[in-house]
Amino acid sequence: MTTTVFVSGATGFIAQHIVKSLLLKSYNVVGSVRSVSKGEHLKSLFNSSQFTFEVVEDVQKAGAFDDALKKHPEVTVFLHTASPFHYNATNVEEELLKPAVNGTKNALAAIKNFAPQVKRVVVTSSYAAVSTASKETDPNHTNNEDTWNETTWEESKTNNRLGYRGSKTFAEKAAWDFVKDEKPNFTINYVNPSFVFGPQAYDSELKESLNTSSEILNGFLKLTPELPVPEVVGGYVDVRDVAKAHLVAFEKDIANERLLMNAGRFCGQDILDIINKDVKSLQGKVPVGEPGKGKEINGKMCKIVNDKTKAILGFPLIDLETTVVDSLTQILNKPRL
Ligand code: NAP
Repeated sequence: MTTTVFVSGATGFIAQHIVKSLLLKSYNVVGSVRSVSKGEHLKSLFNSSQFTFEVVEDVQKAGAFDDALKKHPEVTVFLHTASPFHYNATNVEEELLKPAVNGTKNALAAIKNFAPQVKRVVVTSSYAAVSTASKETDPNHTNNEDTWNETTWEESKTNNRLGYRGSKTFAEKAAWDFVKDEKPNFTINYVNPSFVFGPQAYDSELKESLNTSSEILNGFLKLTPELPVPEVVGGYVDVRDVAKAHLVAFEKDIANERLLMNAGRFCGQDILDIINKDVKSLQGKVPVGEPGKGKEINGKMCKIVNDKTKAILGFPLIDLETTVVDSLTQILNKPRL
């Protein structure tokens, strides 16, 4: 019998790749979206009779997922990706922290109460839940699958960056607590990606302004040669690998694992070096900076060790050059109106 997978937040950058991967492997997919029009849009995008949608307007409303799951007793796998990822909140607690945490609690409670046939759950968490912001610039510190962001709820409320990190941390913690306290029928694995780059699942999803992580690379296209090198630093992973990891996370016989999805570190200089070497149409249009200096900049950051994750995944991760070139090529090739 064909397995049916529920994917919350199916419109998202990562979720579209997950749904695409699921459909390619002939799973049935029920995606949750915030409106009928968004659902219809996805139906035409995925163009598959194996994709259907349910409207969940706001994941943080009590009982948000109850009706959707009652209607789909065939669902046996639940992937929870829906969560706000932006740095535009005017009230960090209300717009980032609470939706992330309550959305996760609502999803898990709905599965326990109305979908006892669900055995496997995957929660899309983040490297933000693994890493404490203040330790990122300590080269003697190491983050791995067992480390946690130690920032408190109160500290997380103070700005958008800490708020997003806190939202992912407290949402993931809520899921661990749910399993411990409620002892549900299902097991959970977590996918914890660094900044996710790579092309949109469909060219037609390219907008003037993209999802938060894709916009980091898109921003490089708006530079001019005399500008300073953008100060962005972080870990990266390609969206196609993140999608594959969500499938591994429920297909393999594993539980209570955090898949720390990180292919390496990058900084603004690294991105410019790749653009200046590989993207011919941008040469002379973006800063040059100090080619090769990225190694020194990245060396001042903490280490990220994810050998356990790589062993579970069993496939190599896409490198920075490929993810950057593929992302930018898709944007540059988009027909202009
Ligand atoms: P995205 O494109 O902004 O997708 C977010 C998804 O969540 C969208 O489907 C959005 O719906 C939905 N959503 C947000 N708030 C909601 C609410 N209150 N009620 C219902 N739906 C809501 O971002 P993404 O990069 O794909 O992120 C997906 C997941 O991966 C998130 O959990 C994020 O924290 C995590 N993650 C992302 C990265 C990254 O670098 N991209 C790294 C680590 C973890 P609409 O489309 O209708 O707004």
